[in-house]
Amino acid sequence: MAVDGNCLFCQIVAGKLPAEVVAENEAALAFRDIRPCAPTHVLVVPKNHIANALQIEAAHIPELTKLFELAQEVARAEKVDQSGFRLVFNVGEDAANSVAHLHMHLIGGHPLGAMA
Ligand code: AMP
Repeated sequence: MAVDGNCLFCQIVAGKLPAEVVAENEAALAFRDIRPCAPTHVLVVPKNHIANALQIEAAHIPELTKLFELAQEVARAEKVDQSGFRLVFNVGEDAANSVAHLHMHLIGGHPLGAMA
């Protein structure tokens, strides 16, 4: 498993920095965003360090499947699976991507409106 010692989310995965963890499996960790933009705002990250969606390749498919399985589990636990939710991966400056470790934002709990 790749680990970047300078990466904020690698340190959360390693338990070296605190986070409000809501779920976990062998390949992914889910924790609440420190600055939530909706009643439910959970980050789902691979434990393996992948910088962003541009770096994904075929070998990552098993761990990405685990990432989406964990997101499904979180959506059900947060009771947004019926009302709906948004999954977002930010990449690069125009998307205001601030942490260079692949992460899925799972956002819901109230109407989010159409994407602009
Ligand atoms: P992005 O802008 O897509 O890179 O998203 C990074 C997210 O990480 C932002 O929504 C931040 O609020 C969130 N964040 C930054 N530091 C932490 C932290 N220590 N614990 C939880 N969420 C964090």
